[in-house]
Amino acid sequence: MAKGKVLLVLYKGGHHAEEQKRLLGCAENELGIRKFVEDHGYELVTTTDKDGPNSVVEKEIETAEIVITTPFFPAYVSKERIQKAKNLKICITAGVGSDHIDLNAANQKKLTVAEVTGSNVVSVAEHAVMLILNLVRNFVPSHDIALKGTWDIAGAAKDEYDLEDKVIGTVGAGRIGYRILERLVAFNPKKLYYFDYQELPAAAVKKINDASQLFNGRDAILERVEKLEDLVGRCDVVTINCPLHEKTFGLFDKKLIGKMKDGAWLVNTARGAICNAQDVSDALASGKLLGYGGDVWYPQPPPKDHPWLTMKNAHNGGNAMTPHISGTSIDAQERYSAGVKSILESYFSKKYDYRPQDLIVYNGDYATKAYGERK
Ligand code: NAP
Repeated sequence: MAKGKVLLVLYKGGHHAEEQKRLLGCAENELGIRKFVEDHGYELVTTTDKDGPNSVVEKEIETAEIVITTPFFPAYVSKERIQKAKNLKICITAGVGSDHIDLNAANQKKLTVAEVTGSNVVSVAEHAVMLILNLVRNFVPSHDIALKGTWDIAGAAKDEYDLEDKVIGTVGAGRIGYRILERLVAFNPKKLYYFDYQELPAAAVKKINDASQLFNGRDAILERVEKLEDLVGRCDVVTINCPLHEKTFGLFDKKLIGKMKDGAWLVNTARGAICNAQDVSDALASGKLLGYGGDVWYPQPPPKDHPWLTMKNAHNGGNAMTPHISGTSIDAQERYSAGVKSILESYFSKKYDYRPQDLIVYNGDYATKAYGERK
C-alpha cells in the first residue's frame, strides 16, 4: 500500500519523447522522477488529461497528496478542485509562475505551493530577445514571403527596422526582466526603461550602464519609470515580465495599449492573461501595434476561436506567437526537473527545508519574505 499519491500533469510527448530522451518535461518521461517517487513509497499517476469534469485530474485530485504541473500545460488547480482534494498537501510547479493555482484557496487550506525559482529565467530572457528581434526585423512575414517564392522584397522591407537606437522598456525587472535588459545592451538601444514595484540595486543598474558605455559609448541608458503609462508612452518596444496576479490580469487592455506609441511592438513571455486578447488583436488590425510577439496564452491550450490564432497586423499579417515554449528548453527541463526532485526530497524527508525563494504559499500565508529575497 502506497504512502500517498503524486499526481503529475505534463504535456504529451508522443514520438518526440522517443526521439529526444532529454525531453523530461513530457508525460512519457515524467521529469525523470518515477523511480525516485516509488522508492519513497508513493504512487505516481501521470496524465495529460487535465481539463473538464470527466478528466483524470478532476478524478485523481480527490485523493492526491502532491500535485505537480507545469505552466506550459497547466492543470488549473481551482478553488473547487482544492476544496475536494481531501489529502492534498503540496502543489509543485515545474517551472516558474504558479498563477494556475488558486493561491487564496491554497492559503485557506494551508497547502504549500512551491516552484523552481530561477530554473528557466535565462531561457525566457533569450526567447523574449528573439521575439523582439523577430518583430522589429519583420522576420515571420519575410520568411513566409521567401517560402512563397514571390521575391516581394518591398512587402517584407516596408515593416523592417533596426533595433539599434530604439527605446525599449520592461514591465517587471526581476530575474527575467533584468536578464533581458542585460542582453539588449548588445543591440545599442537609445534608452532602456523599467517599471517595477522595487528599484533595482544600484550595482545592477551600474552593470548595464557600464556595459553600454563600454560597448556603445552611451551613458546612463537605464532608468526607472514611476508610472506604467509613462513607460509605455516612451517605448518603441515593450516587454512584459511581471507575474500574473489580481493587479496584472488584463493590464494591457485597449486603454493602456492606447497610451503606447503608434506602431510600437509588444512582447509578452510572462502570462497570456496579462493582455486582453481581443484588444491586442484589434490594436494589430488597426496598426496601433505593428507587432505582438507572445509565447503565453490564456487559457492553455487556447480554444479554437482564440483571437491570437488568426490575428494579423495591418500590413503583413505577421505576429510572432509560439506555444509557451520559452521556459521549456531542454536545458530548462533539466533544471526544473532537478528542482522538483529537490522540493520532493524536502517534503518526503519531512525536513521541509525548501529554498526560501521557491515558496509561494506556505503555512497559510503568502511567502512574501521569499518574494523579497528574489532579487
Ligand atoms: P521575479 O524575479 O519575481 O520578477 C518579477 C518582478 O515583477 C518582481 O520584481 C515583481 O515585484 C515585479 N512585479 C510584480 N507585479 C508587477 C507589476 N504590476 N508591474 C511591474 N512589476 C511587477 O520573476 P521572474 O522569474 O522574472 O518571472 C516573471 C514572470 O515571468 C513569472 O511570474 C511568470 O509569470 C513568467 N515566466 C514565464 C515563463 C515562460 O515559460 N514563458 C517562465 C518563467 C516565468 P515584487 O517582487 O515586488 O512582486
